[in-house]
Amino acid sequence: MLDTDFFRRWMTAAAASVDREADHLTDLDSAIGDADHGSNLQRGFAAVKAVLEKDAPATPGALLALAGRQLISTVGGASGPLYGTLLRRTGKALGDEAEVTQEQFAQAFAAGVAAVGQLGGAQAGDKTMLDALLPAAEALALSFDGAADAARAGAEATVPMRARKGRASYLGERSIGHQDPGATSAALLVDALAETADGEGA
Ligand code: ADP
Ligand code: MG
Repeated sequence: MLDTDFFRRWMTAAAASVDREADHLTDLDSAIGDADHGSNLQRGFAAVKAVLEKDAPATPGALLALAGRQLISTVGGASGPLYGTLLRRTGKALGDEAEVTQEQFAQAFAAGVAAVGQLGGAQAGDKTMLDALLPAAEALALSFDGAADAARAGAEATVPMRARKGRASYLGERSIGHQDPGATSAALLVDALAETADGEGA
């Protein structure tokens, strides 16, 4: 079972990973965007970590919803509302259970990913975070490590894609040949999840 502390540790691990990889994310965004993805997420997840240190939501759903609201209010770029929606909707779908099964979480996460698609209007193959999130959501019911691998492969698969959503789409053909920053950060978040789950029963 996954309890509230599991999700708190996931958010802490995600914040650490975004911190470590901030320069890399910003480099990717400088190639096909405006060079702020690393600093956007660094600011957002630092705020998530801070709010979770002073506030202690009682359930996994409440914790993810709070983290999502925090991202929406602190990240200015497109990625803030999108990641915020992912976490809020996932949290909402978990309801008010004190602990959830991996399968419940996988279903909730899939609802969160679907909400990202609705908000941003992107689909698989548009060279966005969804290219990492969709395969991860599919793999998550079976395994956390499988989800992390699927997200990483999904992010790498954005290299030859032409961007059809977000800032990178303004570049047209010139967006081809670069890995999408948002798909790359999405893979980091799912990797942090797998890391958290690995630490669990070990
Ligand atoms: P901004 O583009 O406003 O500078 P960021 O640099 O923080 O915001 O985030 C850019 C990332 O957001 C992109 O790499 C892409 O993955 C994601 N993104 C942008 N627009 C959309 C969208 N409509 N749907 C899904 N993801 C999107
Ligand atoms: Mg940007």
